[in-house]
Amino acid sequence: MLQVDGIDVCYGDLQVLWDVSLRVGAGEIVVLLGANGAGKTTTIKTVSSLLKPAKGTVTFQGTRLDAVPSHKIIEYGVAHVPEGRRLFPDMTVEENLMVGSLRGEAKSRRSRTMDWVFEIFPRLKERRRQPAGTLSGGEQQMAAIGRGLMSLPKLLMFDEPSLGLSPILVADIFRIVELINKQGMTVLLVEQNVKHTLNMCDRAYVLENGRVALSGTGREFLDNDHVKEAYLGI
Ligand code: ATP
Repeated sequence: MLQVDGIDVCYGDLQVLWDVSLRVGAGEIVVLLGANGAGKTTTIKTVSSLLKPAKGTVTFQGTRLDAVPSHKIIEYGVAHVPEGRRLFPDMTVEENLMVGSLRGEAKSRRSRTMDWVFEIFPRLKERRRQPAGTLSGGEQQMAAIGRGLMSLPKLLMFDEPSLGLSPILVADIFRIVELINKQGMTVLLVEQNVKHTLNMCDRAYVLENGRVALSGTGREFLDNDHVKEAYLGI
């Protein structure tokens, strides 16, 4: 479904990704792991076309996403739940959700999709008329995921959805990621929460200093001595 082929990405003169390749098959949960600064966010921002690769390509279902402006990628079925949630704090939960469904089929199916989002997140339904800035961290993460779902994406990318949440909420967010996947959505997940994500993913990649250092199935990773030592502290 998604194929990233040999991308180099720079911020001005500073190169931060070197020859990064990865693929995500339809229906999979794929996890991108790595230490702070390894290049995970840069990779998914490049898939979202927020950053352009200096070399290499990003292809989604046959379309070169790197040639598509970032505000259009949603029309190809790719949604990005960014790190830090990026909600509009003065707009209500409902208005923030609507931002995810401004065009095309998502717009015409908006009210049905919103009912579905409220089924997944009953808390958001209770708080639908409340400004998003007044929500707790966990609720804001739910609203950010809900906004992504409102575009009816085929591929949903999450950037560290568990960041700053309590262990119970982290478990809740991962349960919902799995639920969304079971309902047919493909997932690319950037995470620091290594053990939990390796248990639920199909495949994983490790980025180290802007390069893919390792790739394999979740099981292979859990049995890998380097992963155990560097990321699981075993
Ligand atoms: P984290 O878990 O801390 O978010 P990450 O793996 O997502 O880390 P990136 O945010 O992709 O890493 O950053 C990769 C490298 O690019 C880092 O060295 C970072 O300092 C640098 N970088 C990120 N954003 C910018 C920017 N806007 N301008 C210059 N350098 C940047």
